[in-house]
Amino acid sequence: MNTKIVTIQGQGDAFSDEEERALQEAGEILRGGGLVAFPTETVYGLGGDAFNPASARKIYAAKGRPSDNPLIVHIARLEDMDRVAGQVPEAARQLGRAFWPGPLTMVLPRARNVPVEITGGLETVAVRMPSHPVARSLIACGGGYIAAPSANLSGRPSPTSARYVIEDMDGRIDMIIDGGDGEIGLESTIVDLTVDPPQILRPGFITQEMLAEVLGRVSLDRTVLDADSGQAPRAPGMKYRHYAPRGEMTIVSGQTAEVTAYVNAHAAQDCAQGHKVGVIGTDETLPEYRADLVCSLGSRRDEESIARHLYGILRRFDDEQVTRIYSECFDTMGLGQAIMNRLLKAAGHRLVVLSGNRER
Ligand code: AMP
Ligand code: MG
Repeated sequence: MNTKIVTIQGQGDAFSDEEERALQEAGEILRGGGLVAFPTETVYGLGGDAFNPASARKIYAAKGRPSDNPLIVHIARLEDMDRVAGQVPEAARQLGRAFWPGPLTMVLPRARNVPVEITGGLETVAVRMPSHPVARSLIACGGGYIAAPSANLSGRPSPTSARYVIEDMDGRIDMIIDGGDGEIGLESTIVDLTVDPPQILRPGFITQEMLAEVLGRVSLDRTVLDADSGQAPRAPGMKYRHYAPRGEMTIVSGQTAEVTAYVNAHAAQDCAQGHKVGVIGTDETLPEYRADLVCSLGSRRDEESIARHLYGILRRFDDEQVTRIYSECFDTMGLGQAIMNRLLKAAGHRLVVLSGNRER
């Protein structure tokens, strides 16, 4: 298949005539049952018409993903939630008013007309209203309801930039819209509103603390920060191992000096055994590390930078065939919960704790 690649940068909510035409064309592709990859404020999405079961099947085929892993329905207007959800609890409206458009996905009871192909066979549906102007405009042009997972091949990190989407999806879908790099860089927060109290299934930029301010009580699925051995998955989407880099990854927790010393000692040993070693550090510690590839997530004081850069670094390590990876550890407060959730999953929960007192 020939994949058309277009660039739509826009100026805020305004688009040039050429960009408007490209958005119309993308909308027609979606309404005709085709697939379009598009930018959002979190990561790139791989979109199809949410009410067309054939589109869902194409999404699974393009990603190489099992078809019982549910997709998120993206909408552009608050009221459209009522067509997707069988019943909208007051808490969902409150969260919508507080955080939409934005990086929050709500799990609600499914409306009868939402195809089970989209929900992975579940009686619930995940809904989100993104804030990215290109995503919002595309949803409107495409008929109002776009089902989308992240636009990566199954087994690769979510794409934070169009070049990663092109790497994974060129030739597999109808169109890729390049709208620049994702501002947030981690997938949306997912909160399940069909249980009491509401439960975070996946942490993200909208933090537990922010949700609690609106909802009062919010619980956290046990698998968010703990290894999930033994517990039956609550949703098909949670039973699949998340992306894991090709290299064996270890997270090292402790005071700065002991972490760098530990990493350097192990990197030297690994190198001697023929490994290619990558280190995920921060601006503050970068000069201290000795390894084949040392990358900074940004400053430790800037969690948003850390979130934004993580997936790009993991992709780079895969591309450069790094076989051993060491990463620094982060606090799990605020956005740190999402960062550590992704890091722990990438590391298969391999965590070395050198001392209880982590220096910040
Ligand atoms: P993405 O991670 O961006 O590819 O979005 C899809 C993810 O959303 C799935 O892998 C699930 O983790 C989650 N999801 C979608 N729908 C549901 C649902 N009805 N219940 C629980 N999780 C869901
Ligand atoms: Mg994904």
